Amino acid sequence: MGDSFDVVIIGSGLGGLLCGAILGKNGYKIAVLEKNPLIGGCLQSYSRNGGLFDTGVHYIGGLEKGQTLYKIFSYLGLMERIRIKRFDEEGFDVIKFGDSDTEYVYAQSYEKFIDTLAKEFPDEREGIENYCRSIKELCDRFPLYNLRNGDFMDKMDLLDMNARDTINSFVKDPLLQNVLAGNNCLYAGSGEKSPFYIHALILNSYIESAWRCEGGGSQIATALADVIAETGGKVIRKAEVNRILVSEGIATKVITKDGREFGGKQFISDLHPAVTIALTQSDVFRKAYVNRITHLENTVSVFILNVVFKDSAFPFINKNVYYYSKSENVWNGTEYDEAKWPENYALFVTEGKDGFAHSASVMCYMKYSEFEQWADTKNTVFQPDDRGPGYNELKEEKASKIFALIEKQYPGFRSAVESYHTLSPLTYRDYTGTPHGSLYGIQRDCSEPLKTFVPARTKIPNLLLTGQNLNLHGVMGVSVSSIITCGELLGIDSLLEKIRNT
Ligand SMILES: Cc1cc2nc3c(=O)[nH]c(=O)nc-3n(C[C@H](O)[C@H](O)[C@H](O)COP(=O)(O)OP(=O)(O)OC[C@H]3O[C@@H](n4cnc5c(N)ncnc54)[C@H](O)[C@@H]3O)c2cc1C
Repeated sequence: MGDSFDVVIIGSGLGGLLCGAILGKNGYKIAVLEKNPLIGGCLQSYSRNGGLFDTGVHYIGGLEKGQTLYKIFSYLGLMERIRIKRFDEEGFDVIKFGDSDTEYVYAQSYEKFIDTLAKEFPDEREGIENYCRSIKELCDRFPLYNLRNGDFMDKMDLLDMNARDTINSFVKDPLLQNVLAGNNCLYAGSGEKSPFYIHALILNSYIESAWRCEGGGSQIATALADVIAETGGKVIRKAEVNRILVSEGIATKVITKDGREFGGKQFISDLHPAVTIALTQSDVFRKAYVNRITHLENTVSVFILNVVFKDSAFPFINKNVYYYSKSENVWNGTEYDEAKWPENYALFVTEGKDGFAHSASVMCYMKYSEFEQWADTKNTVFQPDDRGPGYNELKEEKASKIFALIEKQYPGFRSAVESYHTLSPLTYRDYTGTPHGSLYGIQRDCSEPLKTFVPARTKIPNLLLTGQNLNLHGVMGVSVSSIITCGELLGIDSLLEKIRNT
């Protein structure tokens, strides 16, 4: 006999923890089961060699008083528990190309965003204004993004708009077209597939207000776990679920790898839907559905170089940097040529003392296939292992290539570094359980928008899904997904009203 709960949640990523906190606050007895010793999934931060590194949340949008994420976080009492700092209002992202010193800056607030880019491209002011107007209009048509209930059909005509083509239609200058797409690493931008609505929803939240978590994204996970504990719920670490037991079409309990059992009336999975289906081993799911979900394409993976700087050696940059060797590469970064890798990177710098940087993360796309020969190995702090010959050498080779590319824009970067380490697609796969270490889960495709939409309800009536694979990834996207999932139990209208009235 194991413990029994109202709701058992599998996975303590942002999606699982938010669902736990929302439902706990509404009277449900919750258990969140997490396979790792650390909670948070992509919210995890960790210290190494004196540096604090985020694994998957470098900045968050929409946290200004009155904005959507602020309201969701306030409803759960998170705003008082987390330390955040606003990015430079004159610019939160900067886009850079090739050998040029020119920095194309994205500023916070639409007025400043337009003015800043129009200074660099004066003939295109009207186009930039129209582009911004269309982003705002689109966001307004996504009701949950604005904490309203609405009809899915209301936005149907927006789902198949291609991001690249739509952006390009507003302005004529190819350089500006690429500048406007410059931070598409936030959704693993694909020229053929990425929908404009994803670009718009993400960018809008940062233009509204862009924030970094001081002390790492893991403080959001800690704050949510505290809320769950205060409602009488439990967040249980080192509890890897390897089976969801289904009897007569209903989920009855989950079983962990070490044989513990957790019963519940309701179950929520924060895992990839394909992984969730496999855990049920159930024939309740129709073959066609299983086929569709298991064959959905996932976004590319990533290779990360994390560095700690020597004291007062590298100036702090209060902006995120997106760099492309060639401006025309903006939409094909995920399809890179291995021989030329890396041609692009995103650079996230953390603040040290007296205007200098303390540490930085450099992120480059990486195909899982490049590390696939070690696919059968597993290495985490909980389950340490040596991946075998060649693995560290390949990581080292990749790190040197990234250093060489950064040096072109930031001469002296390498010599400013005190220590560094790297994360491969296998690191992400082993820590988050995401298939092939995929960056953001399911790849959305504007040519088949409905195919990549995953509803919260499953064929098993008391098994719901949540997390980045539902609607949209990222802190904003996953927060909205949690409202959808919890709305299935609490009623979406009354939940939205409670959040709006906080
Ligand atoms: C490199 C990177 C950078 C990013 N940068 C940003 C950013 O700057 N801003 C932003 O908003 N978003 C960013 N994102 C996206 C964002 O972090 C994610 O979309 C979001 O955190 C995903 O949350 P989730 O709950 O859906 O899933 P996850 O965080 O993947 O959580 C899933 C959890 O389930 C656990 N789990 C898996 N299998 C099992 C099992 N069998 N039993 C028990 N537990 C299990 C995992 O260990 C994990 O804790 C980034 C992502 C990455 C990878």
